[in-house]
Amino acid sequence: MSATASQHGERPGEYDGVRARSTAIAVEGVSKRFPTGERDVLVDVDLTIGDGEFFSILGPSGCGKSTLLRILAGFERPSRGSVRLFNADVTDTPPNKRDLNLVFQSYALFPHLSVFGNIAFGLKRKRLSKSEIDARVREAVTLVELEGREEARPRELSGGQQQRVALARALVNRPRALLLDEPLAALDLKLRQAMQEELKRIQREVGITFVYVTHDQGEALALSDRLAVMAEGRLLQVGTPDELYERPSDPFVARFIGSST
Ligand code: ADP
Ligand code: MG
Repeated sequence: MSATASQHGERPGEYDGVRARSTAIAVEGVSKRFPTGERDVLVDVDLTIGDGEFFSILGPSGCGKSTLLRILAGFERPSRGSVRLFNADVTDTPPNKRDLNLVFQSYALFPHLSVFGNIAFGLKRKRLSKSEIDARVREAVTLVELEGREEARPRELSGGQQQRVALARALVNRPRALLLDEPLAALDLKLRQAMQEELKRIQREVGITFVYVTHDQGEALALSDRLAVMAEGRLLQVGTPDELYERPSDPFVARFIGSST
């Protein structure tokens, strides 16, 4: 996985073909203005994310991260520009027809359902036999290391375990990409660090594209194959953690990543 300057540095928006097999997500010229808004909260965003990448979108609160993620998921339409998923234009495709899932910070499990029931809920739109449902849920339970807790209710679980259930519910459909919007922001520091490692392990195991939104520099640098730094609706720089740390292309990136030029 050695990356040379020529592979990365001269084409900061590109992913290298060694690690990333093909394109998962391609955003082209996307701008967004809400009907009630006076300005574009996304400004001409171009972004390509490779299949199987752990990609983070890093930026301060209010810079447009969630809006960009919601556009990828299909909950918002761009005012201009297009979104492609796995080489198909999905700009006008509703969320439930996109082969991805979204995990939020407030993961809202059903209190009256068991761990098994909560995870199986993620399958409800698929017509599967009972044994297939069983197999899929067990696979997801194993992935997030909750074996033995299938019959527990959410209130009997720790915050970290509840987070694992939410992840399993999002992955049980076997989506091709997972979008995560500050999923660890509500956890305390120790638990957050433990869950970071878990997220990385899970992403490696399932091998799908993760798009991870955070305002936490340390988190983005530790987790990502590549990341984009965002401010006021614009992507300022896209690259590997090393590139952004060692060669920030503008003062905001330098300051935000914690290095200096
Ligand atoms: P972030 O996730 O980086 O904190 P958001 O994408 O949530 O940022 O918000 C970006 C900007 O868009 C903010 O100024 C926010 O107030 C505005 N915004 C977000 N959602 C809406 C909406 N539904 N209607 C109007 N403005 C919105
Ligand atoms: Mg947000």
